[in-house]
Amino acid sequence: ETTLPLPARTRIFTISNQKGGVGKTTTVVNLAAALARSGARVLVIDLDPQGNASTALGVEHREGTASVYDVIVNDAEMADVVQTSPDQSELFCVPATIDLAGAEIELVSMVAREQRLARALRTYLDEIPEGIDYVLIDCPPSLGLLTINAFVAASEVLIPIQCEYYALEGLSQLLKNISLIEKHLNPKLQVSTILLTMFDSRTNLAHQVAEEVREHFPKQVLETIIPRSVRISEAPSYGQSVISYDAASPGALSYLEAAAEIAKRGAPR
Ligand code: ADP
Ligand code: MG
Repeated sequence: ETTLPLPARTRIFTISNQKGGVGKTTTVVNLAAALARSGARVLVIDLDPQGNASTALGVEHREGTASVYDVIVNDAEMADVVQTSPDQSELFCVPATIDLAGAEIELVSMVAREQRLARALRTYLDEIPEGIDYVLIDCPPSLGLLTINAFVAASEVLIPIQCEYYALEGLSQLLKNISLIEKHLNPKLQVSTILLTMFDSRTNLAHQVAEEVREHFPKQVLETIIPRSVRISEAPSYGQSVISYDAASPGALSYLEAAAEIAKRGAPR
């Protein structure tokens, strides 16, 4: 087992792309497990009412379970809703339940509606004695108030890009939205990391997309590319990351490598 350099301060990522099915949740879960495997303490915040990250991390998230909904809407303490994932000992999760589906509407009339997650997370991080090295926030595929809460709570954005047709479609809109957030709500926010996912090396298209993304974002794109892999797609149904499900599989190795790159690059200035 390798160990990686730990960040001096908690690095908070929001994993975002307003397209669905591009590998956001898969990246959150497996990157988190990979970072935890290499010695970091990692918190996943599931901010998608679907609760797919919660499922994949094997944590309880039936309707009524204390969840991120209670934190954002009912002022619950984050410490009271955090669960430890059975996947790894240093991997924690704030689960999402279906209750969160209503939060988008409930938030509209609330005070400081864009800052609610940021404040709760700040309090949690200030109070937890052992500290947290990485926070990864899984976003729903839309730019509503939940996603805005994630952008305000984070300092880094990680954008997964699927190596397929239309990969770059919507990307300029996403970047525009991020710079609006940076300007008006969170001056610290930066797109630090782009991860190419679901890469099928047999197709020319995948190579073309990867090349094009690297040309546009030479500094942000990780060297590591996540391959399309059956093991990656199977793992969630066992409530496991691919790191636990099949540690020697190419999918697991690629997420471990991506985690190492992120740790070694360190936080952006
Ligand atoms: P999002 O959160 O962006 O909607 P998901 O992470 O849920 O996307 O991924 C969408 C689907 O693609 C899921 O069924 C997931 O298991 C599958 N998937 C994601 N990454 C890979 C991969 N590298 N190889 C194979 N299947 C993948
Ligand atoms: Mg998802």
